[in-house]
Amino acid sequence: MCGIVGYVGDKNAQDFLISGLKRLEYRGYDSAGIVTLAEDGVATLLRAKGKITNLEEKLAHARREDRIGIGHTRWATHGEPSETNAHPHQAGPIYLVHNGIIENYKELKQQLKEHEFKSETDSEVLAALIDSFYKDGAHPLVNAVVQALKLVKGTYGIAVVSVKQPDEIVVARSGSPLVIGVGHGETMIASDASALVGHTKQAIYLNDGEVATVKSDSVEIKTLKAEPVSAKVEEIETNLSAIQKGGYDHFLLKEIMEQPESLIETLRGRVNEREGTVRLGGPGLSEAQLRKIKHLIIVGCGTAYHAGLLASYYIEKFTPEITIEPVVASEYRYRQVYIPKDSVALIVSQSGETADTLACLREIKKQGVTTIGIVNAIGSTIAREVDGGTYVHVGPEISVASTKAFTSQVVAMVIFGLTIAQAKGVRTSILRPYVKEIAHLPETIRKTLESVKDSVNGLAGKYAAYEHGIYLGRDTAYPTAMEGALKLKEISYVDANAYAFGELKHGPLALIDDRFFEIALLPKGELYDKAISNLQEVLARGGHVLAITNEESFDLPVDDVIRLDVDAELFAPLIMNLVLQLLAYYVTVAKGYDVDQPRNLAKSVTVE
Ligand code: GLU
Repeated sequence: MCGIVGYVGDKNAQDFLISGLKRLEYRGYDSAGIVTLAEDGVATLLRAKGKITNLEEKLAHARREDRIGIGHTRWATHGEPSETNAHPHQAGPIYLVHNGIIENYKELKQQLKEHEFKSETDSEVLAALIDSFYKDGAHPLVNAVVQALKLVKGTYGIAVVSVKQPDEIVVARSGSPLVIGVGHGETMIASDASALVGHTKQAIYLNDGEVATVKSDSVEIKTLKAEPVSAKVEEIETNLSAIQKGGYDHFLLKEIMEQPESLIETLRGRVNEREGTVRLGGPGLSEAQLRKIKHLIIVGCGTAYHAGLLASYYIEKFTPEITIEPVVASEYRYRQVYIPKDSVALIVSQSGETADTLACLREIKKQGVTTIGIVNAIGSTIAREVDGGTYVHVGPEISVASTKAFTSQVVAMVIFGLTIAQAKGVRTSILRPYVKEIAHLPETIRKTLESVKDSVNGLAGKYAAYEHGIYLGRDTAYPTAMEGALKLKEISYVDANAYAFGELKHGPLALIDDRFFEIALLPKGELYDKAISNLQEVLARGGHVLAITNEESFDLPVDDVIRLDVDAELFAPLIMNLVLQLLAYYVTVAKGYDVDQPRNLAKSVTVE
């Protein structure tokens, strides 16, 4: 969740570390720190609570010409956010940054009597443990790290330096990502390739259970069992403009507005509108395998779960003889579920590192079930561990609140569903309307964003004044309502919840009063009239309703209406979701909160 960076080479390490940490800011953090080493091993440690600008203020009085160092943005799990708990942590001659959780830190701590603990973190225990094996530099640093990690239970991505060996960084991972950037006469490390963009295009992604000794001109990788690993150098595809705001005030607005383009990338080569067919290469399943699928499990957390839920509503409409079970990863991983024969699991994660989703993937694989990744981050752990996969290709999503990834995840999964339906022999006349709308979605999204942006902005001040929001929908508009409510609560801190329209009478209707507003999602179609009846019940009780609809005849006396004139009937809810994304954005701006980095949250949730 937090960020790790490191540098060893011929340039100023402090400069690289600070700029690298800034690139990782979007992941969410509460304190930051760096340590650099001079040639003679003198260490300069700087740490600060809060934003990286606080660290920069300290740096102004401690500029060094050091050529090696490591840095960290912390997302506190053990111990409050404070300067003392911020990383790097020191133990004897070594400094360590850690991402993840050391689960057995209490037991280990009891054995480390010689170290005087300064922080409340689990990470300092690991630093002390490594130091206990390092014996003041009597052993190679990497050996001490390996010995310590063998005793550790939990998840980690770590980077360690020693004042005794000021020309190398030792890194290791288990459950938290680490990538090594190979440059000319310099080597960099980061928990996310975006910190390396502009410095090098050559990257080595470390695997779980691997440890590497990184010098300015070499990278040596081995497993914890001391087996040598030959490093596979891969190309970093991200470019600089993809990780900059490009004229927008916030990444979130940029990412909402770039959905026409990001969806084009998702669809590229996968949809044939003329023939009414789709084609997905990544999953690597034969026609016969696709035909046999009877049960689809869709695993995700948060927005990815909502994407799975929405996709499931679509897929079951056109795929016969299939049951679909969208599941919340943190729950599913501990359930005693029987997975029927002929199941396939879709593993959905923007970052490809989500801890609970990854754990489910591993559990499901153990049962011999085929796993297919629906992932954005290229080369991420989930993308590498699934049996086959479909990248959504939306480019870096920096804002903590997911928008463009959601839209593309839904569409990618529906396309996967269409490939199953094709293989099962469903008539093209049934599938064609879906394929056609999907092919036009980027354009529909572009028109919608342009036409509603200002009106949603105009309404935001009014809706920002309410304490609570209720989001309502039926059928495909119900998962959409769930995602809309999540978007609002995660960035504007307004308490928002979603209900199926039909559930109102079973409880939530009792809530309606002046503290609440209601969002009514009213797509045209079979269930429109039923949703209207439910909405009447809300209005009869004095609800404050913002209706979003593509039905021209809508004429109920609601507070506000957003009318969508769109070339999408089946996917109207996905288009309505754009309005909900914009509403969450503008309400948050109206409230003056940090849009891209909401409090308490992190972008890539690599801890359980
Ligand atoms: N568990 C560590 C701590 O609380 C690391 C948290 C992180 O991943 O930033 O300090």
